[in-house]
Amino acid sequence: MADYAAFYQRSLQDPDAFWREEAARIDWQKSPTRICDASRPPFVRWFPDGTTNLCHNAVDRHLPERADQPALIWVSSETGEEKTYTYAELDREVQRMAAIFFDLGVGLGDRVLIYLPMIPEAAFAMLACARIGAIHCVVFGGFASGSLASRIDDARPTLVVSADAGSRGGKVIPYKPLLDGALAQAQHKPHAVLLVDRGLAPAARVAGRDHDYTSLRERHAQAEVLCAWVPATHPGYVLYTSGTTGKPKGVQRDTGGYAVALAASMAHVFAGKPGDTFFCASDIGWVVGHSYILYGPLLAGMATVMYEGLPIQPDAGVWWRLVERHRVNVMFTSPTAIRILKRHDLAHLKASDLSSLRTLFLAGEPLDEPTAAWVAESLGVPVTDNYWQTETGWPILTLARGVQPDQPAKLGSPGVPLYGYRVGLFDDVTGEPLTEPGRKGVLGIEGPLPPGCLQTLWGNDARFVSTYWQSIPGRQVYSTFDWATRDADGYYTILGRTDDVLNVAGHRLGSREIEEAITGHPGVAEAAVVGVADADKGQVAVAFVVPRAAGPLEDATQGEALTAEILARVAADLGPVARPARVVLVPVLPKTRSGKLLRRAIQAVCEGRDPGDLSTMEDAAALQHIRP
Ligand code: ATP
Ligand code: MG
Repeated sequence: MADYAAFYQRSLQDPDAFWREEAARIDWQKSPTRICDASRPPFVRWFPDGTTNLCHNAVDRHLPERADQPALIWVSSETGEEKTYTYAELDREVQRMAAIFFDLGVGLGDRVLIYLPMIPEAAFAMLACARIGAIHCVVFGGFASGSLASRIDDARPTLVVSADAGSRGGKVIPYKPLLDGALAQAQHKPHAVLLVDRGLAPAARVAGRDHDYTSLRERHAQAEVLCAWVPATHPGYVLYTSGTTGKPKGVQRDTGGYAVALAASMAHVFAGKPGDTFFCASDIGWVVGHSYILYGPLLAGMATVMYEGLPIQPDAGVWWRLVERHRVNVMFTSPTAIRILKRHDLAHLKASDLSSLRTLFLAGEPLDEPTAAWVAESLGVPVTDNYWQTETGWPILTLARGVQPDQPAKLGSPGVPLYGYRVGLFDDVTGEPLTEPGRKGVLGIEGPLPPGCLQTLWGNDARFVSTYWQSIPGRQVYSTFDWATRDADGYYTILGRTDDVLNVAGHRLGSREIEEAITGHPGVAEAAVVGVADADKGQVAVAFVVPRAAGPLEDATQGEALTAEILARVAADLGPVARPARVVLVPVLPKTRSGKLLRRAIQAVCEGRDPGDLSTMEDAAALQHIRP
């Protein structure tokens, strides 16, 4: 059995040799002779003299061997449609889309903003950009006009690709009015708009600007568009972070480093092989969708499942029926999705044959122990948490299942640093590295960052340097802005964001620690804890708690009883100092569209401040329940 620790050490001791070997996983037009150029820190250029193409590696390269193998399996529980594209069919669609892009004036290095629901055209458009060396910028479908306009102004796209509508829980969400609103608000005016008409909502086209995808696709039925070989360092895409902690940052990623990092992760982390079926239930608008719905599985010659819909629509068995029908081998989703499924009857899961499934990966937010245990037990397969960020593009902390399958997991910890990442904990005031087990510190990564991570922030090198590289005093360390501990075996536990650290009468407490104590109560579904300014104590903790049943919300006596039990529980688990000053029972918590808790907005409301831009919120009404 391979030993992960030795593998990891090798990646740090001789990174050039390590990544030279991994670079052989992809095709190069010109193989790199230099591996890592870190001569201008904190910037790093991976494989600087190599030339390659991401679309070639994701699609064309597989044609000789797997032209007839499924590449993209699209399923929509919203419209009831399902369609499988083989690698040959995917190639045809991508070439047609690339020809349309040329027609509409898109050239090398131009940006194409993609504002689409989870339909195959989103994948075609991303791959078409990669094919011609254009830079895609995917914005989560259904974001409000304001958020879309600010991204249009930042990315300055030549072309916007959109659709008449998306659909969520059976409800049609017309996109065109949102897009028209955004284009009216934005200072930058793209040359053209390409519209996919799904027949869901009326979408009038603006003459001279808006083009119909269906008719252009017909015109280019036989189009052949060669892959543009670009330097490994050519920007592949820009993707904005979720905006949980403020103004979204335009993460810019390269081409060659990203391809190598993803191809390596498919083997080492996800233990996947060519011909497997990979089902990542996320959205193309998030980094998980970029890396593990689209590029990762295709780079590895797998079939990828692209799913439009909710995990519980038409019922909570929909994903498991997909696993059975398409013989899914590896699955990836978020803890939020699993928590939603956990509220439904287990019979939905048990009704499907899940024997093809080898592992489930979860990422995006802290994985609480009850959820991890429930899903592992119900599925009967290992569940692996993985911690990363939009900025890194692939996991930072996890267990590398392809290197050492039997490396033990620890509940509550995503695992150990992945190869290539020099991870450490740092004191946020002195910058000192914290080496003893159990110390709490800011999770940092010493430069140079491994391949696949952000090159810079789009059009803003200065913000890249000042945001990420100057917050840990006196060191060239990338800050994740997450707060963590490490145990004696090197396993990390994420305690929350550095913004979410409470300072109560001189004691530093993580919001997540208190939330976990609260959600350990069987009557609690979810909790959010924020620090609220207090004249005497600096800050006090205020807990917003969603009870599992309606009783405590409707009946004052039941509500008081639950509150008292919660307070007692926190005091018993963490000590009296952690006990929230107030517990407020609420029916829902404010979250981003990607399911992340908006503690920043909750805190702002509690302190009587403006909660800021709410257009990335899942349900703005959720904030009404937040009262100081
Ligand atoms: P912004 O940077 O704009 O505020 P964001 O940080 O929410 O947005 P993402 O890059 O989507 O945007 O999220 C990354 C963050 O999600 C991490 O920094 C961490 O706080 C959290 N996270 C991701 N995976 C995990 C995990 N497995 N366990 C705990 N936290 C996680
Ligand atoms: Mg972030």
